[in-house]
Amino acid sequence: MRDYRVAEVWLACIKEGCEQSATLELANDAYVRVIVTPFLLGAANGYLVLLQDLSHLHRLETVRRDFVSNLSHELRTPLASIKALVDTLRDGAIEDPPAAVRFLERMEVEVDEMTQMVQELLELSRIESGQAPLRLFPTSVDKLIEPVIERLRAQAGRAGLTLNVVLPANLPEVMVDADRVRTVILNLVHNAIKFTPPGGFVTVSARLAPDASPDAVVISVADTGIGIPAEDVPRIFERFYKADRARSGGGTGLGLAIAKHTVQAHNGHIWVESTENVGSTFSFSLPLVHLPLTNQ
Ligand code: ADP
Repeated sequence: MRDYRVAEVWLACIKEGCEQSATLELANDAYVRVIVTPFLLGAANGYLVLLQDLSHLHRLETVRRDFVSNLSHELRTPLASIKALVDTLRDGAIEDPPAAVRFLERMEVEVDEMTQMVQELLELSRIESGQAPLRLFPTSVDKLIEPVIERLRAQAGRAGLTLNVVLPANLPEVMVDADRVRTVILNLVHNAIKFTPPGGFVTVSARLAPDASPDAVVISVADTGIGIPAEDVPRIFERFYKADRARSGGGTGLGLAIAKHTVQAHNGHIWVESTENVGSTFSFSLPLVHLPLTNQ
């Protein structure tokens, strides 16, 4: 490692005659802690230079800071709006019953959204901490997809979209917690509907994973929507991340984080391929049922 700052720590150690340390920021978001200490037998015998890679810890710290600031931001907006509505009511709108009812309805919408967000956060932390054990059963893939399609078909129609399902016959069963996987599919299809302009297509499909991982089924949700800018793709599964706040349509940014943790709890992967103004395809893998079944 050729960096004058390492030499500086070493020089300080020589000068002070005792252990010296410093944290250095390198290129590419890498952080290194340098510790230089004289040998116990005496500095004449040399110095021990320790380099610790702190990049991972630093990244975790950044994620934690971002999380707190995002959460505060997400709560501040609806709270400010409720406060403004309360002030308006107090300043006289309460004497005007039709207006008062309208204001109360808007307050209710804000409160419902905050409640939804808190529920999603709790769900996320339950999945992450392993407190929500999966109830795994062999399940056929169409039983995962069909109920979601039934539920969202009308909404897709209202949005002027065509919702298709492409399912090969004889797909093997997967070992999943069906309710949780349906929530993942629901979230992906819901997003596809939200981010696709009228006249577009949303296609839910399933296939046996290619040879690289033959023990899985891959479920995909493809849309012909606005797509995701390339620079946002690596962060799209983070809590609260929204590619384009102005166009995110009032979502919380938690849906994909929950999807990721649910899929990972099933030992699966989730990923996205997307081109701006062309569309996005979200895919995730689910493990097949292995014979003999453990719960037979
Ligand atoms: P929400 O939809 O509640 O904002 P998500 O975690 O489900 O939260 O999605 C995070 C962000 O990812 C969205 O705000 C949006 O910017 C982007 N996104 C998700 N799905 C799509 C999609 N199908 N097309 C374009 N952008 C998407």
